[in-house]
Parts: sequence; structure tokens; C-alpha cells
Amino acid sequence: MHPDTLAIQATRFPDANAGAVIAPLYLSTTFERHPDGNLMGEYGYTRADNPNRRVLETALAALEGGAVGLAFASGQAATTALLQTLRPGDHVLAGVDGYWATLVLMREVFGAWGIELSTADLTDPEAVQAAIRPNTRLLWVETPSNPQLHVADVAALARIAHEAGAVCAVDNTAATPVLQQPLALGADVVMHSTTKFIGGHSDLLGGALVLRENGDLAQRLRQIQSLTGGVPSPFDCWLAARGLRTLGLRVRAQSAAALELARFLESQSNVEEVFYPGLESNARHELARRQMPEGFGALLSFTVRGGFDAARAVAGRLKLFTRATSLGGVESLVEHRKPVESPESPTPDHLLRVSVGLERLEDLREDLAQALAG
Ligand SMILES: *Cc1c(COP(=O)(O)O)cnc(C)c1O
Repeated sequence: MHPDTLAIQATRFPDANAGAVIAPLYLSTTFERHPDGNLMGEYGYTRADNPNRRVLETALAALEGGAVGLAFASGQAATTALLQTLRPGDHVLAGVDGYWATLVLMREVFGAWGIELSTADLTDPEAVQAAIRPNTRLLWVETPSNPQLHVADVAALARIAHEAGAVCAVDNTAATPVLQQPLALGADVVMHSTTKFIGGHSDLLGGALVLRENGDLAQRLRQIQSLTGGVPSPFDCWLAARGLRTLGLRVRAQSAAALELARFLESQSNVEEVFYPGLESNARHELARRQMPEGFGALLSFTVRGGFDAARAVAGRLKLFTRATSLGGVESLVEHRKPVESPESPTPDHLLRVSVGLERLEDLREDLAQALAG
């Protein structure tokens, strides 16, 4: 079944009560028992499971080709749950470039609990191999990475992780299951910030993990999800499931527009460098074509000639791109990343990150042209 069909089929909800075509919202935190003590349905308490959450979890697992889906209150809560499966003394290896808050979470919150973190250039499998330690238990791969859009070879990195006895997890937020299928490439876990493309409308906060196998790790994570309680509300699950139904259409259109805008930016004299794996000039273009055959995503970054102030001025002149953090919504956003990360982040001072929305391509291109022309 094509993923577009699957996204719609998997979010259907058989409603014996009223025959509703769209799932009703189950706000109830608790579920009734029969006189004999057995639950009337399949649910007992919403922290453990809820009909709206189950729809979302089942659909996400289907779209990623996994056995188990687990939804969380945010992308960070999903990552946290995975890190909570580790023990003091375990080592996590992550990319040099990646979502800044993920690295801070690993280093500062989990560092205090005895988890070691180091980073490597994930675009270079030999460098990753060399960075593996005897206690490496998790290889965290974000590809394409946010904000520099580095592309890592998931199949090669999953092999390295498995030889070391480590779990390979992929943050698939930027690519979405429409463009990239990490589990089929050998990864064990996929993580999403459903806040981004899956929600798609910048109106919900959510996260998810999808596991290839329903084994020990899935059992541990189910337990952590239910006991630590970092779960999404029924309404946020409902919104995310609604977003999934149009994910394919949105992501393919946004990705195609991003490629056109990346090409346009590359032709502009005020632009120093464009970071986008869909460009033939990109160092990982061939790998990206193999790994993301349907498109390279709607996230792109570029550096502005003239440095920090010049980048800030270009962002300041944009009219259609809203200056705001986040990505994946139908509205185009721009962000000057360095000031929102930290002085020690590897992000260049003059980098602008763009999330391409669903506005008309010509309008977006004109807006970029006027902002760059000053
Ligand atoms: C936003 C984001 C996250 C964190 O997700 P939240 O939903 O904000 O907690 C993690 N990884 C990537 C790539 C992101 O863009």
C-alpha cells in the first residue's frame, strides 16, 4: 500500500457508537469496569493508554514500517525516554551538527546521571567507527541534520552500531517517513518531533518513538512511557493523526519548493553557501539521492556574505517568511540560528535556517530576492 493511502487508512477509527468517520476525542482519563472487575474496553487509565493515542501510535508505526509506536508529549520527551533506557557509565555517540537542545539534554541532564556523551562527524563512517567506545550503547543519528543539513549513511552507521552492541536511533524529524525510512535501512529506533511536519500546522507539541521490533527495548520504553508519564494529551494525538493524513502531499510539495529555492539561493551573489542535500554541489548529494529518493526535505540553510549583522538584516527584511523558531508547518519560517543556540554551537554566525511552507513558490522566491538585494 502506498504510504499516502496508509496514512489515511491507518488513522481511521471504527466507531460502533455513532458511526463517526473521524475519531471522537476521548478526554476521559479513566475507563469503567464491569461488575466482575474486567474493563469494559481495552483501556484503563489515560497515562497508560488512550484511544486517540493508540490511533496515532499505530499509524506512526505503520508509516515507519515499525512494530511499535510510542507517542510522547514532545520530541524532547521521546528522546528522554530513550535515554532513560541507558545506565550510568553508558556512552552515547551523536553528531557534531544536530538539534541543539538534544545535545544539551544529553550532556547536561543525562551527564549528571552518569551518561557519557561525545560527538563525531556522522558523514564519515570511519570517524564514527573510531569514536566508538567499549561502553557505547547508543548511536544517535540525525539526518539530514538541523541546521547544517548533514546527511549520514544510516545503513553504514547502523552496521557500526550493531557491531559495537549499540542501538542505532535516527531522528527522522526533518525527513519524515515520506522521504526517508530509517528502519528499513537498519536503524532500530526512529524518533520524531511530531510538533514539526507530522502535525504540520504549528499548533501542537508532540514526539514519538517507533521501534523496528517488539522486543525488550520496546517493553522497557512502554514501561518508561507509562511510569514517567511524559505522554501527549488526547487532543494533541488527535491533531497529530489529522496532520498525518496530509503528510505526503504537504512534504512532497514543500520539499520540491525547497529544492527550487536552494537553487535560487545558490545563484545569488550575497549568499556564501547553501546547505541543502538536494543540490548537485552538495558533498553528500549522491548518498542523499539513494537514501531519500522522493525528495530532500523542506528544511534548508544558507550563510549570508557579510557575517552576523548581514544575516540578521536579510532575515529582518523578509516579509513572507515569519521570523520564528521551529519548522514543518504550512507557513514558511526563517531563523537566525546562532543567537538561539549558544556560543559553543558549531553553527556559523551568519547562518539562516529556512523551513519552506506551502505558499506559492514564486512569492517566496521574490521575497528572498528583495531581502537579499537590501
Ligand atoms: C524540534 C526538534 C526536536 C525537539 O522536538 P520538540 O517537539 O520541540 O521537543 C528534535 N529534533 C529535531 C530535528 C527537531 O527539529
